[in-house]
Amino acid sequence: MKLLEDRIRKDGQAESSTVLKVGSFINHQVDSQFMDQLGRDFARHFKEEGITKVFTIESSGIAPAMMTAAHLKVPMVILKKQTSKILDGEVYQTRVMSFTKGTSYELTLFADYINKEDRILLIDDFLANGEAAMGASRLIEEAGATLAGIGILIEKSFQKGRKRLEEAGYKVYSQARVARLDKGLIEFVEEES
Ligand code: 5GP
Repeated sequence: MKLLEDRIRKDGQAESSTVLKVGSFINHQVDSQFMDQLGRDFARHFKEEGITKVFTIESSGIAPAMMTAAHLKVPMVILKKQTSKILDGEVYQTRVMSFTKGTSYELTLFADYINKEDRILLIDDFLANGEAAMGASRLIEEAGATLAGIGILIEKSFQKGRKRLEEAGYKVYSQARVARLDKGLIEFVEEES
């Protein structure tokens, strides 16, 4: 998606060969109108999937997920990152390794906010090794619902996330696909036209 690629070229900061910073418009300060445009694009892409809820993982996925849910006219659910297990039958939990922090957390969802008929669209800001998305998929499947699609703002295509998710059978749509990063360098995957 050219809109996001252009914005990353303008305002993204490649910190290293693995980490891209987008704090000025996605992760820290949020460009609300830009998020609305990204949300509309996700809603258009997944419009035939019969989506009943948009899920995201706190906190950076919330802004684009909210906009996507508004365009699809469905609720948005935030999966929480807890530091310890909640011993309570009302929740689904699974352990996830954080790419940026190098620590793990318990991805947590209250059972009330999902049911077997749900067709869920998962939205997240980055796809690296696919840990967060695979964790979300475990919770959704444990609840008996369907993960009908995964929408990512920025996929780092040189990491293994997309391959893992596709091998698990999920439909992945990334608005920007980064082929290579290095300090001060950002290259995108050339899309076939
Ligand atoms: P994964 O679970 O796919 O390994 O990593 C995805 C998660 O790690 C995203 O939810 C995002 O919060 C964080 N992340 C991964 N790579 C980057 C990056 O290059 N920059 C930023 N800001 N966050 C990242």
